[in-house]
Amino acid sequence: MTDTAQRMMAMLHARAAKLQKGESLTPPIVNAAKYALPGEPDHAFPYGRFDNPTWAAVEGAIGVLEDAPTVCFPSGMAAVTGAIMACLKPKAKLLLPSDGYYTVRVLMDEFLRQHEIEVTEIPTAQMDEQDVTGFDLVWLETPSNPGLDVCNIAAIAKRVHAAGGRVCVDNTTATALLQPVLDLGADLTVSSDTKALSGHSDVLFGHVASRDAALIERVRTWRKLSGATPGPAEAYLAYRGLMTLDLRLERMCANAEALANLFYTHKTVEAVRFPGLADDPSYNTATRQMARPGFVIGITFADAATAERFIDDCPAIFAATSFGGIQTSGERRTRWGDDVAEGYVRLSVGCEPTGALVAAISDTLDSLA
Ligand SMILES: *Cc1c(COP(=O)(O)O)cnc(C)c1O
Repeated sequence: MTDTAQRMMAMLHARAAKLQKGESLTPPIVNAAKYALPGEPDHAFPYGRFDNPTWAAVEGAIGVLEDAPTVCFPSGMAAVTGAIMACLKPKAKLLLPSDGYYTVRVLMDEFLRQHEIEVTEIPTAQMDEQDVTGFDLVWLETPSNPGLDVCNIAAIAKRVHAAGGRVCVDNTTATALLQPVLDLGADLTVSSDTKALSGHSDVLFGHVASRDAALIERVRTWRKLSGATPGPAEAYLAYRGLMTLDLRLERMCANAEALANLFYTHKTVEAVRFPGLADDPSYNTATRQMARPGFVIGITFADAATAERFIDDCPAIFAATSFGGIQTSGERRTRWGDDVAEGYVRLSVGCEPTGALVAAISDTLDSLA
């Protein structure tokens, strides 16, 4: 059994192991601003902004998967901000992927540069070659989004550590189940659990995890002081989604592998990016550090109009941004200004029955010719 399979098993049974007779298997949604607190304020739950039993349940479960203490947040961006605030001091130097999640880069531009944080941006495909000397924090997002380039987390972490810096990996796309980034040497990891981890397109959520006790404590302190706290109902939805992560990823990855081969051979498709295709530039590194190549595929059509027809005409594709949900969804990424071709579609492959999904997409591709 792999480490991650063992962790998934342990995660599914972690709560049950601690239950008293009569307690529910699922964690209760505890709506609480106040807790009973006579005498000294020395309990784990003194006040609603400090901690909450439903957060503790989802943090416990994600923490088993990450094999690390975990702090949950009300969104992926709240988690990103928590990680940045815990790591960076004034005048710090930050290396950021220029092809990573757009909002992270805008956040740095709008709010961090003015605090004399020096931000350098390079594409993910160049991270393996980059001199990391002098950077306090190296931010990685692999596979990158939407371009699906990858970089070698273990090799970069080794070089960054030798130079005295830290590495944070945004592991939203792969999740800790497909890519155990803390095992690969990252000092901390952030995730938008809005995507595959929760998986049902019904909640915004995020987390930070780290095996560095002082660092994760600082993240926890940031949440308490800044008030970036999730609602207990959202924490429950994330917990509930997480329970089927392995099952959903299994189907999503199998569907993506089947579809990647279809796109690869179809004449209406000009180019495919998928880390699982043997001649993809990401293949070798992805194969080494990911359990499976994931469920996101980049497809380039001849032009924007063909790409839009593909999305609109296919009954198996929900036209939406974001990814990691049950339903296959897609969008043309230049509508957000991404540095990709006009006809580039990011497809997030869902949990539909494989044969039916491949047939629907194959029919739509044929109709475009
Ligand atoms: C979506 C996403 C985020 C932000 O997450 P929200 O939950 O929308 O705040 C951060 N990083 C990556 C890679 C994402 O895909």
